[in-house]
Amino acid sequence: MRKVASALDAIQSEYFPGTSIPIEFHSTSIFSRKDAFRPLENARSILSELTEVFENNSTITAFATAIHVSKVQSSGQALQDIFGDICTRFNTMLMRHHREGKPQKGLLIIDKSQYSEKLYQDMTDFRKSGTKFAGYLGNIVDIPYFTDSHSTRLLQLADFVAWAFNRYLEHKDDSFLTPLLSHFDRGHHGTNPPDGLKHITARPCSCPARH
Ligand SMILES: [Zn+2]
Repeated sequence: MRKVASALDAIQSEYFPGTSIPIEFHSTSIFSRKDAFRPLENARSILSELTEVFENNSTITAFATAIHVSKVQSSGQALQDIFGDICTRFNTMLMRHHREGKPQKGLLIIDKSQYSEKLYQDMTDFRKSGTKFAGYLGNIVDIPYFTDSHSTRLLQLADFVAWAFNRYLEHKDDSFLTPLLSHFDRGHHGTNPPDGLKHITARPCSCPARH
């Protein structure tokens, strides 16, 4: 994963030569040319370079879950359903690795935000009574690690995955999601749609995610 972080550092050096303090690659800001990206006419090409980071690193496995308003009763329920779904998908991959003789515990690294306390509480609830979707999360380390996306390149890459999926769902622009599709977890048999990409919705939908 150090290779991935270095790749993002290299992109910063290309677009911000001479700036040694880390600039957070926040995809919404890059796309809209906000904050540090305002002076960059070609800011959006940074997003294309982020897709290349995936193309150059076949070992990255991605997960993303989105929820449509048709399945939202409250913000707390929506957040818990999404978080529970992501944890379940991650745990399923870890269980598969365990069966394959590659036992590993998974660590959740979460961006510090106004939701940190709620997610911590949700994780405690999952530990006691399992997730709504698939029971207990035996392969995930009990305590999530909250850190700051300003200083964590991998969280910035996770932000890009979420942004690319949202960009497709909201604007039907698949130019950023399509290069990532082969990286979503696909289980043993290369499942299609991928196990690692989920859209929770009550409506018929033709997006490339599981429903
Ligand atoms: Zn969908």
